[in-house]
Amino acid sequence: MNKVLTYKTESPEATTEFGRTLGELLRPGDVVLLTGDLGAGKSVLARGLARGLGITRAMPSPTFTLMQPYQGRIPFYHFDLYRLDDPDQFFEAGLDEFVGDDGAAVIEWPDRADLAPEACIAASLARCGNDDDARTISIALTGLDGRREAIENALAKWRLEP
Ligand code: ADP
Ligand code: MG
Repeated sequence: MNKVLTYKTESPEATTEFGRTLGELLRPGDVVLLTGDLGAGKSVLARGLARGLGITRAMPSPTFTLMQPYQGRIPFYHFDLYRLDDPDQFFEAGLDEFVGDDGAAVIEWPDRADLAPEACIAASLARCGNDDDARTISIALTGLDGRREAIENALAKWRLEP
């Protein structure tokens, strides 16, 4: 079983900072899957990841285009597949070419395209308790064993102790 570590943020700004910290560690070919209900904070986290790659421009959700590319320290491909009706559409549109390629792919609603890459960082966000501004972020790393320690150390300050 894959180890899952859970983190907690208590504001959108903290989630952005969490994302920025993780984004600094992203490398070409990395895939980050973001799951969680509407409003869980996937897009906030995606923006943080972009910040970590040095991208400072505004990042509207690519709801209708499904993918928006950005250029930072490395290319950054922001996917929002919420409106994808059919997984085949993802491949027919050639969007799979941007996953695991020359940049980092960050994908909201990856289940819409049945995406389960061999190597990825899977982050699952959820509201937490009665606090409107609190979120848990559960992270599972697949196929990134050599980088596990560096990623865990960088995120340690948000770690929710079991
Ligand atoms: P999603 O992309 O998952 O549908 P968004 O990131 O667009 O969600 O929206 C998350 C909303 O929740 C934003 O309005 C944000 O301000 C709010 N929010 C409150 N607390 C947090 C938190 N700790 N982390 C992220 N977003 C938060
Ligand atoms: Mg979103």
